[in-house]
This record gives sequence, structure tokens and C-alpha cells, in this order.
Amino acid sequence: MRKPASRITAVPKTKASRAARTLRGVVVVLDPGHGGTDPGASREGIYEAALSYRMAATLAEVLKPLGAEVRFTVRSAALRRKPISGKSEPALILPRDATLPNGQRLNAGREVPEYLHARAAVAARAWKQKRPHVVFLALHFDVSENPNDHGGFAMWDIRENHACTLACEITRRFAAAGLSGNRRPQPRPNDLGVLNPQFNPVRQKTLVELATITNTADRKKALDPKWRWRVARILAAAIVACKKARLT
Ligand SMILES: [Zn+2]
Repeated sequence: MRKPASRITAVPKTKASRAARTLRGVVVVLDPGHGGTDPGASREGIYEAALSYRMAATLAEVLKPLGAEVRFTVRSAALRRKPISGKSEPALILPRDATLPNGQRLNAGREVPEYLHARAAVAARAWKQKRPHVVFLALHFDVSENPNDHGGFAMWDIRENHACTLACEITRRFAAAGLSGNRRPQPRPNDLGVLNPQFNPVRQKTLVELATITNTADRKKALDPKWRWRVARILAAAIVACKKARLT
């Protein structure tokens, strides 16, 4: 039997409906590292691009129910495949089909400034439309010469100390969750391309190396969907914290 309309409108707001408003009006630009002919870093047959695209797809599924508008800087079938929390996932695949939003294939063999600036342009377009409610998050996995190096860390362009805010929030939450290992946050003096303020005007922007895949334990974690969902929820919580602090 249908409930009368008055009863329906009187239903108290549920926790879920409150959560759905948390990131309403916020555009989160997700930039999965590498792709096309550039597999990124690799170790033991595990490729950074496969991990970063799956992480981006997972994080999108955490952010959308919170009301965020998610935009990817690249296109790929790997991003259209939506992971479901608690369900088994298809094997990781290299996003060889990745293109820039204009359809240009990523075929230089590695990331070149032209591609990185085209990725940043996606953030710039969002900024034009929705400033200041835009967040930019580049997702990568690191390698190190020292196999004992482990954990993840956030980076930001040294020219933009204010950009440390989201990076610092992620750093704090990574440390609290035991995800930092022995890695430290890095303000970078060199041009990281996607974070270059000339091309990417978004204030809350960071590049996160999520784990260090030259470390055996980190490699194992990076392949585990449970770990991925946990990290995605921590990244989403950091964005929510920035929104609450009225930083986005
Ligand atoms: Zn990378």
C-alpha cells in the first residue's frame, strides 16, 4: 500500500541522505597516473598505471554517493568498469586505451609535458565553472631504490604553500591509518606538470603516491581490493574535511 504523501515527506532524514549532501557542489578531478603506452613504474609484473586507474575508479565510487561530481582527466575502459565494495574484482588491466579528453592517444611512451598540461586543463575548466569548490587529486604509486622504503605520501608544488592543505590533511590521515610507512610528504621544487599553477589553478590539489611498489608488503597491499577501498575512503574523508573547513 502506498503511504500518503504527508507521511513520505515526514520521514526523518536518514544518515545516508545526510551523507549524500557532504560533497554536494564539489567537483573532484581525479587524475590517474600514466596510461596509454606509458605503464608507469613497475615491479614483479605489477604496473603502476593498472593500479592507479583502478584506484581512481574505486575512489570515484566512494565520492559519488557523497554528492561529489567526479571528472577524470583521461578516458579509458579501466575507468568505466565500476568496482563494487565487498565484491570480487576483475583482474587489473593496463589502460593501454587511455586518451586525453580530446581523444588524443597517450602514445609518447611516457608522460610528456603536453599530456600533463592537458590533464591540468581538465582541472582548469572545472575551476572556471565551479571555483572554489574544486579539488584535484593525482593518483600514483612510487618506486624506490631502497626495497625497505614503504608507504605513501602526498606532494605539492613548492610555489603553492596553500596547496599543502589537502596534502597535509591526507598526510595526517595516512599517518593515523598506518599508511605512510617511512615516506614523508614532499613540497616539490621541480615541475610536476599536473600541479603546475600556470596550468592548474585549483587551490586544493595534490599528487599522492599511494604506496611504494618496490616493497614486497606494499606490492601485496596494492593488489588487494580491501586495501584499495580503505585508502579510497581515507582520501574521501580528507576531501570532506577540507570542505568542512570551507577550503573548497
Ligand atoms: Zn607515477
